Amino acid sequence: MSSGSFYKNLIDETLICGRCGNCRSDCPVYQEIGWESAAPRAKISMARELFARQGDAKISAEYAKRITQCTMCGACTRACAARIDLQSLWKDLRTKLVTAGKAPEAYNAMIGNLKTRKNISNFANTTRLDWAEDLDELPDYLDQEQGAEIVYFVGCVSSFFPRAAQVPVAMVQLLEKAEVSFTTLGPEEWCCGFPMLAAGHGDEIAEFARHNVEKVRSLGAKTLVTGCASCYHVWSHVYPEILGESLGFRLVHATEMLSELINEGKLVPNELNKTVTYHDPCDLGRNSGVIHAPRAIINSIPGVKFIEMATYGEESTCCGGGGNLQGADQGLAESIAQKRIKEAAATRASIVVSACQQCEQMLEKAARTEKLPLQVMDVSELLLMAIDG
Ligand code: SF4
Ligand code: SF4
Repeated sequence: MSSGSFYKNLIDETLICGRCGNCRSDCPVYQEIGWESAAPRAKISMARELFARQGDAKISAEYAKRITQCTMCGACTRACAARIDLQSLWKDLRTKLVTAGKAPEAYNAMIGNLKTRKNISNFANTTRLDWAEDLDELPDYLDQEQGAEIVYFVGCVSSFFPRAAQVPVAMVQLLEKAEVSFTTLGPEEWCCGFPMLAAGHGDEIAEFARHNVEKVRSLGAKTLVTGCASCYHVWSHVYPEILGESLGFRLVHATEMLSELINEGKLVPNELNKTVTYHDPCDLGRNSGVIHAPRAIINSIPGVKFIEMATYGEESTCCGGGGNLQGADQGLAESIAQKRIKEAAATRASIVVSACQQCEQMLEKAARTEKLPLQVMDVSELLLMAIDG
């Protein structure tokens, strides 16, 4: 459960639902599939039937599939007339799946990786800093430098997936140009734990939260910067609740840090004559309220023409990459991404930027599939491009 939520438990919340259907209108899964059984309203009705009325009744294969067909984007929670925290409800439903032995195999494989390697990939956590080999020079302060003012929490996608590695590479160059004192947790960075929540293993995230927080505290850093939108959401909304106390240091997303550095005159972009649009990651925009900072970065670049998509900010449409949907239904996730990239193309921008490496991977693949002449990149990459001229 996230902070600020009124969520009690699965059964109580299913009884609150008045079946108004508001939650259907912006649901990317319902829009794609079109069947009522894929709509949040139907999923909550079925949960009431199975768990409130019949006790712990058997979950059918069809319903199990529907439970996993969700990106955890939060559009339904925002729309719910009864103010039900539906994301918490979806997480609890997935826990029911795990208990019933009906979780998709992809969930089990990912949880296995998290337990043994502390990250979502098949790679050993000791290779966490391999992305830094793309830098011209490997800074010796990058691995757990005691006394650095800032810890940069890179995230699993950027650490282990080759395309996304360009994001921390850009971030390091920007922080160096701004002469910021920073380090990373190196091999001591564990997954933030968000994939566990989305896979119905929420009770196992506490170990990850305590480890990560303890490591940042032990380095004496004053600020933690997360590069990933979902990491930011978990650090800001879930960790304090698990710990029962505040983090003890400032938490910002990379876009907030970069925007601050521009305002302080420590990063000065040069002219870049491009038309740019921005995709709000659900966990950064709608679910965490960081909407202004990425736009401030884009608009600080002289020559850039910025155009919003048809849906943006809190109302932004999901890219399909959240909620472990790729593992459960790759085709559905990609259909959602293709719809979003068409929205981006409709702006006639040549570059679509985002602030989440998973969104960027989804949109880049969708642009290729749809044969759209769109460059997809992270805000940090755009800013670096402008600074380097
Ligand atoms: S979280 Fe998003 S994908 Fe899941 S039911 Fe709600 S609106 Fe649909
Ligand atoms: S918007 Fe809320 S109250 Fe209305 S059907 Fe959806 S979950 Fe139920």
